[in-house]
Amino acid sequence: MALVNEHFLKLPGSYLFSDIAKKVNSFKITHPKQSLIRLGIGDVTRPLPQACIEAMHKAVDELASEKTFRGYGPEQGYDFLIDAIIKNDFQPRGIHLTPSEVFVNDGAKSDTGNIGDILRHDNSVGVTDPIYPVYIDSNVMCGRAGVLEPDGKWSNVTYMPCTAENHFIPAIPDKRIDIVYLCYPNNPTGTTLTKDQLKKWVDYALANDTLILFDAAYEAFIQEDNVPHSIYEIKGAKKCAIEFRSFSKTAGFTGVRCGYTVVPKELTAATLTGDRIPLGKLWNRRQCTKFNGASYITQRAAEAIYSPEGKQQVRDNINYYMENARTMKKGLEAAGLKVFGGVNSPYIWLKTPDGMGSWKFFEQMLYEANVVGTPGVGFGPSGEGYIRLTAFGSHEDCQEAMKRLQRWLI
Ligand SMILES: *Cc1c(COP(=O)(O)O)cnc(C)c1O
Repeated sequence: MALVNEHFLKLPGSYLFSDIAKKVNSFKITHPKQSLIRLGIGDVTRPLPQACIEAMHKAVDELASEKTFRGYGPEQGYDFLIDAIIKNDFQPRGIHLTPSEVFVNDGAKSDTGNIGDILRHDNSVGVTDPIYPVYIDSNVMCGRAGVLEPDGKWSNVTYMPCTAENHFIPAIPDKRIDIVYLCYPNNPTGTTLTKDQLKKWVDYALANDTLILFDAAYEAFIQEDNVPHSIYEIKGAKKCAIEFRSFSKTAGFTGVRCGYTVVPKELTAATLTGDRIPLGKLWNRRQCTKFNGASYITQRAAEAIYSPEGKQQVRDNINYYMENARTMKKGLEAAGLKVFGGVNSPYIWLKTPDGMGSWKFFEQMLYEANVVGTPGVGFGPSGEGYIRLTAFGSHEDCQEAMKRLQRWLI
């Protein structure tokens, strides 16, 4: 008899986006003539940079010829891409990495979800709340999250609230936690930590032998100088942190699928008998067994992001979204709403007026302004009373949405 992994049965259904779809559909049926503007999407809409398209075409042609054909590549990624990553994403910030510390993958979701393979099932886990759901759900699947309590929290997970009250800066825990997930710039709140604030986390991790899993998927959206692009800008971070990067939001690779993970060689974790094991070695072993690399075509496309033309095209796309973010922030503030984020990230986190619940405001915004957002409570208990809007739409839609919200609220 084959037995299932019963930890999966503990997972509550993921209803957030299907619940939103249901509400949107019933609105459409009762209001067939009204046009809706969707500011809830977590996917990019601008096409791939031309430099990536050209690189992909060229790579396809190489695969078409016997002389230049490539089959399996290195599980860790091709040197041409790893070298471009180190030279462009880290060296200019004074961070020195060697190629064996960079692991190219098929996107950050896979690795943020899979990294738990190399960590014991009984480590304690800390997350900021609200949160990108992958961090918790992947821990539930291997039993590390414990059991779901009636308050909607997992017994082995420490939730660190990030709300307007603490300016979205998670408090340093007053106890030891083995593994802490940090995501900055943050999805869903769009907020960031300054270098000094992130340094407190690195210091905590070094003092408590904590492993930080740092998700920097939105690094390319950072506009302000004192916001770190990499956790390794903080002294000592190589001893305590793994960093995840993604080309998805940076360069429109959500459908192409490519990102990378940095596991510094100084980074170790303990066995029960106290031996220190380099995590890079374990991750390399894990990848070689369970992953066969991102496609050659994809990695050539990713390499092209770092060409002079590619860099400019990526910047143009990001500027496009960040202009939306500015339009939205200004428009929402003019409508009398309190908004956070949107300065170093494509996400706007708006506080519902008068302490209204996330879902109630979502429905009113849908019916009164015909604008769709995402209820903040869907990202965790501390998201209650907030709505997430994304800047991934068109300029026209963003401007029209702001007009509608102002007409409704003012
Ligand atoms: C979109 C996103 C990612 C990137 O996922 P990919 O698998 O690379 O597309 C990672 N982390 C967060 C928080 C995200 O929002």
